[in-house]
Amino acid sequence: MKTSEIRSRFVDFFAARDHTVVPSASLLYNDPTLLFVNAGMVPFKPYFLGDEPAPFRRAVSSQKCVRTLDIDEVGKTTRHGTFFQMLGNFAFGDYFKEGAIRYAWDLVTGSEDDGGWGFDPESVWVTALHGDQETIDLWQQVGIPRHRIQERGLKDNYWHMGVPGPGGPCSEIYIDRGPEFGRDGGPVVDEDRFLEIWNLVFQQEELSAVRAKDDFDVLRPLPSQNIDTGSGLERVALLKQGVANMYEIDEVFPVIAKASELSGRRYGADPTDDVRFRVVADHVRSSLMLMTDGVTPGNEARGYVLRRLLRRVVRSMRLLGVQDPVLSELLPVSRDLMRVSYPDIDDNWARVSQAAAAEEESFRRTLQAGTVMFDTAVAQAKSAATPALAGDQAFQLHDTYGFPIDLTMEMAAEQGLTVDRGKFDELMREQKERARADAKAKKGGAASMEAYRELRERGEVPFLGYTDLDAATRVR
Ligand code: ATP
Ligand code: MG
Ligand code: MG
Ligand code: MG
Repeated sequence: MKTSEIRSRFVDFFAARDHTVVPSASLLYNDPTLLFVNAGMVPFKPYFLGDEPAPFRRAVSSQKCVRTLDIDEVGKTTRHGTFFQMLGNFAFGDYFKEGAIRYAWDLVTGSEDDGGWGFDPESVWVTALHGDQETIDLWQQVGIPRHRIQERGLKDNYWHMGVPGPGGPCSEIYIDRGPEFGRDGGPVVDEDRFLEIWNLVFQQEELSAVRAKDDFDVLRPLPSQNIDTGSGLERVALLKQGVANMYEIDEVFPVIAKASELSGRRYGADPTDDVRFRVVADHVRSSLMLMTDGVTPGNEARGYVLRRLLRRVVRSMRLLGVQDPVLSELLPVSRDLMRVSYPDIDDNWARVSQAAAAEEESFRRTLQAGTVMFDTAVAQAKSAATPALAGDQAFQLHDTYGFPIDLTMEMAAEQGLTVDRGKFDELMREQKERARADAKAKKGGAASMEAYRELRERGEVPFLGYTDLDAATRVR
């Protein structure tokens, strides 16, 4: 089943059940608390908060999302993309737990011939907030045996926005991929074998204070109870297509194939290379989608995220042995895969491809400039008969020329050298501490740093804050 068909089945299912079809908002949807839209509910926030009356009681969408927080997982887990599409059904003071659970079950296990996704009911596991008996009972009523309903604490199964406002328990749906993917015992034991595909949030109360994910005060029950759900389209696609991970689905894999062709290396031959292939495929797509929505590479907030994604593509391709420009080869592959669902990619293509080419060219110059210093460092290490590239030189390469440490290490390895990583890390730490002390001195920074750390722990910091602390302290 193609990704686009999984999406249309979801939308059609809910449209046939009186949900208004709402098109995806831009990734740059106007929400001052976020760098990018990171969940399907974002455009509906004013209705959930009661700031605006909802123009419909039920809605369904397939929302473009970017989660920069997941960037380090990309290519290493089977299931985290920086870009992905979140399918969601929403109800504003309409149906609640029973409706949401019944609908999700019917779509997930409904036969393919009747428009369902056709998963084996025996493969479905769910979680509920510890003690949420109503949800446990409802899952049992649709037919899930008690042992496949697992309870978790507030950290995993309670949703709120990090600030006073709506909150409520949630219930996640997992598919068991089988014993060859990991340990038995459900999602509380193994989240690779048991893949989370859908999260149902039951907004039912108003919170008066929120200190952490699992530390808040409930003010009162909400006047109207709401449903907010999110299902990862790519995750459903990987299961329906029987592939190993979300980078191998129909909408993404051809970029890996192209990268393999360009590099002359085979995907599947070497685990380290494979991570690079997957990073390339993911980042090419997220860059394309961000640029289409109007982001240009730069040094601030959104532009920096894009810059980092594009540079990681170029760097990963170099590590795969490709020295020539790559973006002009890879981006069109992704464009051709995504344009069917997002026709505005074509409207913006001229601008997008130019911006990408310029960014790649400037990064290549950076790399070139750094290579002189790199070669000097290598020569020194060799002539001193030291097996390791000096840590302070690696640091300087990073600091002055923007050389990522893994690039330095890889290039050193090609020369038969290692890098004094201990020294490098020490210098990085010192620099961070200096920056921290600076920020503190500048604007009573202790409080904002503390807030920042707290947000990180809650997993709600949109992106690597060290480039832009102000952006990092925005919460959703
Ligand atoms: P995980 O625990 O796997 O990181 P999550 O609990 O953070 O996922 P939610 O915030 O519940 O995810 O988002 C709703 C749904 O969106 C998830 O059930 C999943 O299917 C999908 N999803 C979340 N993050 C990603 C991602 N980085 N890439 C692809 N799909 C994702
Ligand atoms: Mg997550
Ligand atoms: Mg989860
Ligand atoms: Mg979840």
